[in-house]
Amino acid sequence: MGGLGFHANSKWVGPLRSHITWEYISKPTSFFHRCMKQKYGNWPWVADFKRGDSTVWKILCDGANSLACCVRWKVCNGRDINILNHTWIWDRSIALWPTYCDIAALEDRTVSDLISPAGDWDKQKLLICFGEDRILEMKIWSELHEDVLELMKIPIGSTISAMVYNSSFLGEDDPCCAILKAGLRPRVRMFWWRVYKNIVPTNSWLLARGFDVDVKCPMGCNMCEDLNHITTDCKQLMEILDILDSWGLYTPRFADFSALQVALEENVKSKDIGMKLYCLTVYHCWLNRNAVKHGKEVSTQVFMAASILESLNQDGLLFHLEQRDTVQSFGLCLHSSWCPPPTRWLKINVDGALLRSNAGGIGIVIRDSYGKLIVAAGWSICHWDSTQVEMMAIQGVGKLIAEWMYELNGVIVEGDSASVIEHMQNFQFKELWKLQLEDWDKWN
Ligand SMILES: [Zn+2]
Repeated sequence: MGGLGFHANSKWVGPLRSHITWEYISKPTSFFHRCMKQKYGNWPWVADFKRGDSTVWKILCDGANSLACCVRWKVCNGRDINILNHTWIWDRSIALWPTYCDIAALEDRTVSDLISPAGDWDKQKLLICFGEDRILEMKIWSELHEDVLELMKIPIGSTISAMVYNSSFLGEDDPCCAILKAGLRPRVRMFWWRVYKNIVPTNSWLLARGFDVDVKCPMGCNMCEDLNHITTDCKQLMEILDILDSWGLYTPRFADFSALQVALEENVKSKDIGMKLYCLTVYHCWLNRNAVKHGKEVSTQVFMAASILESLNQDGLLFHLEQRDTVQSFGLCLHSSWCPPPTRWLKINVDGALLRSNAGGIGIVIRDSYGKLIVAAGWSICHWDSTQVEMMAIQGVGKLIAEWMYELNGVIVEGDSASVIEHMQNFQFKELWKLQLEDWDKWN
C-alpha cells in the first residue's frame, strides 16, 4: 500500500508455506519426504488435486507455487529439468526469453537431451538448438546423483519466507519510494509520505474538504498555504535555509514541489546531506506552523535552525565530524562518508554490483591512514545473486594481500551489505577462509 510495504494478509500465506515446502524439498532422505514421495511423487508442483489428497500435500503444493520464483536447478543429469519452463540458466527460464532459441524444437524436452552420454554438454546439439554454445559455461554437478534444486539467493540475514514474499512484489514501485529511501527518521519519513500522498492538512486542503478556514499562510507570507508553499516557498522555510547556508551547510532550493520530487529521485543514489537537511527543515517548519495555529509562540528562525542541526546530529549523520584525522571543514566532507583508518592500519573498501542482465562486477580499493591508494582492483563476473556477489567481493581481498601487510596493526574492511559483513566475521579462522577462497576460484 502506497509504497510503505503494507500488503493484504492473504499474500503472506503462500510465502509462509514456501518455508515448509523448502524444508520438504531440501531433505529428500527424511522419513516424511520418503512417505509422501510414495504417494505423490518427487515434486510438489502439480496442476490439480485428486479427491482424497491430504491437506498437508495441498499446503506443500501451495507453498511450492510461491517458492517457484526463488529456486533454480543444479544440473546433474538433466532428467528432471524442463528446458523451457524451468530455471537452470542463471536466474530465469528460457520461456521468458522468447527470442533466444527455437521454441518449437525444445517444447517438452528435458535438459538431459543436451547432455552427452559421457556427462558433458553436447556442443553440437547446443549449437543446433540455441545457435550458440554459451551454455557450456554452466556447471554440470557430476558429483551429485540427480538434479537438485537450490535457492537462487542465499538467505543470509533474512528468512526464506521473507525472500519469497519480497520477490512477489518486485517491480512494484511507488513514486514516493524516493522519499522513503532518503534515510530520514520514521516521524519525518511519515510526514513526507503524507506530503507525497497529498494528505497533509494545509489550509487549502481543509478548505477543499468543506472546512471554513482562512487559506492564507499563518507565517504571514500573504500567500495561499498549499503543498507547494509549505515544501518550497514559505518565507519561514527560506529564512531558515538561508541561516543554514550562512553556517556553511548548503541546501538546495526548488521552484515547486514537482521540481523537489525530481531532485529527491536523483538523490536516492547520491544521498546528499544538503537534501536531507532540506527535508528535515520542511518538517520542522510544519511542526512550528501547527504550533502557531494552536496559539503557541513563533520560534525564532535561528532557534529552529539550531534544533534542526541538533536532530541531524542525533541521526549520527555528522559522525564523520567526530572521526579522527578528519580535520577538513564540514563543507569538504559533505559528499563522502569515507574516513581514513588509524595509523599503521589499512582500510579496504569492497563492493559488488549486479545488473538485471546478470552482468556484474567486483571492486576493491585499499588505502592507508593518509588516504593514499595502495591497491585497486576489479573483476567482471556473471551471476544472479547480489548477496553472493558481495561475498565474492570480500573474498577477493585475499588476492590482493601482500606479505608486508601482515606487519601492520590491522585492517578495516568496509562493504555495503551488513548481513554479508556479519556472515564473514564467522571466518576469522584462516582454514575456513581458505575454503571460501577455493569457492571463489571457480568463478575465475
Ligand atoms: Zn508561508
